[in-house]
Amino acid sequence: MIGKFIKNEQFNFIKKQVALIKDSYKKNSDPTVIRAVKELANAKIMELFPYITQEQTEMLDLSKKKTDFEYDQYIQELSQYLLPFPQLTEQQIKKMFPKAKKIKVPELAKLNREQITYLSWTDISTNKKYIIYELNEKMIGIECKYTLLSKDNVCSFCNRFGPVAFISTVTKAKKAKNPDYYKAIGNYICFDSSECNGKITNVDYLTTFFKESLGEPC
Ligand SMILES: [Zn+2]
Repeated sequence: MIGKFIKNEQFNFIKKQVALIKDSYKKNSDPTVIRAVKELANAKIMELFPYITQEQTEMLDLSKKKTDFEYDQYIQELSQYLLPFPQLTEQQIKKMFPKAKKIKVPELAKLNREQITYLSWTDISTNKKYIIYELNEKMIGIECKYTLLSKDNVCSFCNRFGPVAFISTVTKAKKAKNPDYYKAIGNYICFDSSECNGKITNVDYLTTFFKESLGEPC
């Protein structure tokens, strides 16, 4: 039996590759072009999973699929192997934000944990955005201030162009010239985190953001 092994962002990446393939079929591209697109997509998908079994490799292999129906089936099958975001209790979340006394935790039972790379929610009354991510097998919470922006921009986490908020967080790294102050970092990220979780295809920047916030070398 194959256990769950695909992360949300990896699944988004695979879906993106499938969309590219379907698109090249629709454009009636030359068969050699389609084959090249498929081979490249397959190689990129395999690169995401350096330590998989033969069975998993066969499951991920999309090179023999041809029709939209076959690709939809492929995505459907893979969706059963999604690793859920770790289960958290309200208590655990509150512990991650010891300074936020009146923190409002989202309804955890309602979360679709298979579709989450990072957990985030906002508190409109305090203009705070909370972000939780598992870094080096440890769940970490970061509190940010946010400002909604009227102009669309590119999200640092998922690279989508759309409605974003400017978030800033005070890091644990002290400023070299002025050790009394902590360095703050700012980013544009999707205001709607479920939208962002649906688009994110890698955790490169998310990881950097967490390391920077913790004052760790990136
Ligand atoms: Zn985003």
